[in-house]
Amino acid sequence: MYQTKTMEKLEMVACPKCGNPMPLKRRELGYHVCVNCSTVSAKRGVPVMRGTGDHTWVDLEVMTQEQFERYEEMENKTKTEITPSKTEGRNLQGPFTIVETDK
Ligand SMILES: [Zn+2]
Repeated sequence: MYQTKTMEKLEMVACPKCGNPMPLKRRELGYHVCVNCSTVSAKRGVPVMRGTGDHTWVDLEVMTQEQFERYEEMENKTKTEITPSKTEGRNLQGPFTIVETDK
């Protein structure tokens, strides 16, 4: 027996943001705008460590793609700036106690 599968035709709807046609399937998947629009307004969740000492917690910062890129740039910069100072600090070990000896 021979079976022919009919290709599912992509039904298009207009994107509510820019008006360009987008597949209806996309809306069924939970996206309300076309690929172009959703890329622009994509939100990124970034775990951020907050607090000091023993009292720290991880917060999820939601930022736009643009903010995220700036954040990543900043993170990379901080990392490269911190690493050499850590090796410098190796010479200094301590806590130090200054003791007066001529008594
Ligand atoms: Zn659009």
